[in-house]
Amino acid sequence: MSDEFVPEAAIDYDEVFRRGGQNWGDEDFDLFRCPNCGHIYLLEYEVDTVYLDADDLTKRAAVFLPQRSFCCVTCAQQVPEGAWCGPRAERRFRVTWAELKASRWAWVVKPAK
Ligand SMILES: [Zn+2]
Repeated sequence: MSDEFVPEAAIDYDEVFRRGGQNWGDEDFDLFRCPNCGHIYLLEYEVDTVYLDADDLTKRAAVFLPQRSFCCVTCAQQVPEGAWCGPRAERRFRVTWAELKASRWAWVVKPAK
């Protein structure tokens, strides 16, 4: 089922924290991708923080509402506003298992049982 989207529940919080991903407490993580180039990002949506680099979780961008957008680190285009995450996420922002496995974020999900 590698073409299915990665659910929020698959994210390994312990591993994110082990790599220094603490934000402001009460973290809620989900994944989304740049619809222009497919670059994958981790979002901490309790405080609206985007983690820009899977290998360095100190690289972050604050994306407070109402202007919830930022410049993509890969394609340098603006990642548009929209439903990035959650049950109403738009398909163009969603990350498939195949995309995740091929990215530097492959570590972010719990190992398959
Ligand atoms: Zn991009």
